[in-house]
Amino acid sequence: MTVKENLKKVNEIIRMACEKSGRSQEDVSVIAVTKYVGIERVQEAISCGLFDLAENRKEGLLEKQQEIHDERVTWHLIGTLQTRKVKDVVDHIDYFHALDRLKLADEINKRKKSGKLKCFIEMNISGEESKHGIKENELDDFIDALSGYEHIQTVGLMTMAPNSDDSDLIRDVFRRLRNCRNRIRDRKLDYAPCNELSMGMSHDYRIAVEEGATFVRIGTALVGNELKGS
Ligand SMILES: *Cc1c(COP(=O)(O)O)cnc(C)c1O
Repeated sequence: MTVKENLKKVNEIIRMACEKSGRSQEDVSVIAVTKYVGIERVQEAISCGLFDLAENRKEGLLEKQQEIHDERVTWHLIGTLQTRKVKDVVDHIDYFHALDRLKLADEINKRKKSGKLKCFIEMNISGEESKHGIKENELDDFIDALSGYEHIQTVGLMTMAPNSDDSDLIRDVFRRLRNCRNRIRDRKLDYAPCNELSMGMSHDYRIAVEEGATFVRIGTALVGNELKGS
């Protein structure tokens, strides 16, 4: 499948999910996750108008950036980041989706030369041991602790739903993330406006959009997975 064909399907599903939930499609940004594909496929995505690109590892992101010099691209780092790697990438990305501990915030704040890095706080809603992220009952304290960081802007919350076929379970996770987002947004903090929801991947983005996602992160269903041959 070409990216263009995939994108048409994805946009159609998003359109229907928006219609069902009374949302405007303009409020949903599609991020193309390019971690499974090579540079040609990334170029193809850009030629389809996909200008939000994401990698889950800083090495992958910097590799892609070496090949792609297109001012229209917004770069998202969506995976967890080791503290010692912050300095290599902090001035090369527009959004970071996996802020999950204060030590990492310390390092970002120290290394960012100017301006603010737009960050999502990664939340572990499902409570799975294997998952990164802040728990729901830890969120307000975490937000409070971020108030002194002049180079960090908390734009929203991010989560990954459990890898499951149980759509009720997935929906519940997304709904709880939205409730957390609303709670922080209502605090009207300058440093944490928290308007955005980064949720939904290839197998669950329809549900995520129905539940209010403003950024969906789609790899396999959009640009494919060359490692798996799809
Ligand atoms: C890989 C990845 C995605 C996209 O996964 P697909 O299932 O291929 O759409 C989204 N978010 C994160 C954090 C990822 O690591």
